[in-house]
Amino acid sequence: MKLSQGQGVYHFMDVPVLTTLVQRSMRLHQLLASVMARRLPSRFQHIVCMILASLAVVAFYYLAGDHENFSSTTRRLFSKTAETGAKLRNSAGALITAVQQTGRFLGPGPDREVLHGKPKYAGGKDHQAIALYTRSSDVVLKEYHIMSMFTKVDQNHGLQEKFKICMKSMVEHASFRDDEILHFHLVTDESSRALGEKLLSAFLSRAAFATKVSLHSAQQLAAQLVPLVQTMQRHFSAGTSSYFGDSIFFLSVAMHRILPLDVERIILLDLDLKFKTSIRLLFTEFDQFKVNAAIGIAYEMQPVYRHTLWQYKRENGGTPVGEPPPHGFPGFNSGVLLLDLNRLRRSVIYNELLTPAAVELLAEMFHFQGHLGDQDFFTLVGVVHPELFHVLSCSWNRQLCTWWRQQGYAAVFDDYFRCNGAVHIYHGNCNTAIPND
Ligand code: UDP
Ligand code: MN
Repeated sequence: MKLSQGQGVYHFMDVPVLTTLVQRSMRLHQLLASVMARRLPSRFQHIVCMILASLAVVAFYYLAGDHENFSSTTRRLFSKTAETGAKLRNSAGALITAVQQTGRFLGPGPDREVLHGKPKYAGGKDHQAIALYTRSSDVVLKEYHIMSMFTKVDQNHGLQEKFKICMKSMVEHASFRDDEILHFHLVTDESSRALGEKLLSAFLSRAAFATKVSLHSAQQLAAQLVPLVQTMQRHFSAGTSSYFGDSIFFLSVAMHRILPLDVERIILLDLDLKFKTSIRLLFTEFDQFKVNAAIGIAYEMQPVYRHTLWQYKRENGGTPVGEPPPHGFPGFNSGVLLLDLNRLRRSVIYNELLTPAAVELLAEMFHFQGHLGDQDFFTLVGVVHPELFHVLSCSWNRQLCTWWRQQGYAAVFDDYFRCNGAVHIYHGNCNTAIPND
């Protein structure tokens, strides 16, 4: 029994540590033997010496090991090795399988959850009642998850105003049924958290439907994202930024590995948006996804990828890549993004595309150095695996920025910028004012 435990320790302990332990116990044995030789009759010397040496080795383990015994040390070493193995396998996307099997969260989950609204089904009861209601086993509220980022508001003065316009228009136009709840996830940092929470509460408390808020720490998420997105960060960030905080701009690409499994679908929204219709209607787009599609996204409405992919286009004459719709593929804009997290978790192709090797290959294949974060990745993936995407109509992300018109693209600009039909969501990208109509 002891022997097998000892073997367990031996297997997982560093060789230098083990050598030191053996040397110490031998030195102890020699020391005790010389003391005994002077004080005890020779026939007892050997037996007493062996007992004391064994006790000393046990005491050494116990004290040095923070009061752990042999078996708890072995257990810890076993579990540490299993943990390391799981982390290593993560690079191949296998960790997600482990999560699916165990149902355990990868991330720390939201920091705090707040409930708002006075849904009719709760009979006008207070917020606490809603919390109890959603937890009761016989009633299942259908949750509609949306997420936005609200960070660095102290350095970005326009952001607060954008947030207000976005929230006000969303709440005014949205409608949900009595058995439904809008769950708003806000990713925020220390400097923006208090203001973000205050503004959200103010707007959501006016809603005629039930809402729930989860606050997520941008810093914690960024730390989780680093190992998943650092290769992407090198190729798709301005300059060659690998600053860890910037990994948050790639949150959407690895969202299926961050959020708990009970979040099955989520819509990510920029805050420079203005709603002209109910956000609930956008959720029905998920039902239009073809069988292999996992991401709903609209086209980019400027010739930015015509520009950044110029070398690829020159080498591949006649390619539709970077060309305007309806026949070309202009790339994507990630300001309004639908993620079917279950499909992303299950997709072998998508999870392979996320690996550093695949990202390197994509960047090399397209001679690509971008600066638009997640949407650069989605655009390149859109060329090689278009079946992963459901293309939203431009009316769901009517971008207003015209910066690229003046950069030598005036002749083709309108082919990209054109968008017919009633607008559902305006996107005032590159700080463009949104019309008041
Ligand atoms: N954002 C933020 N803090 C910033 C800059 C951006 O929280 O300092 C978030 C915000 O949700 C914003 C989104 O990141 O809507 C994307 O940035 P932006 O909309 O300005 O980019 P654009 O659409 O103009 O490319
Ligand atoms: Mn935007």
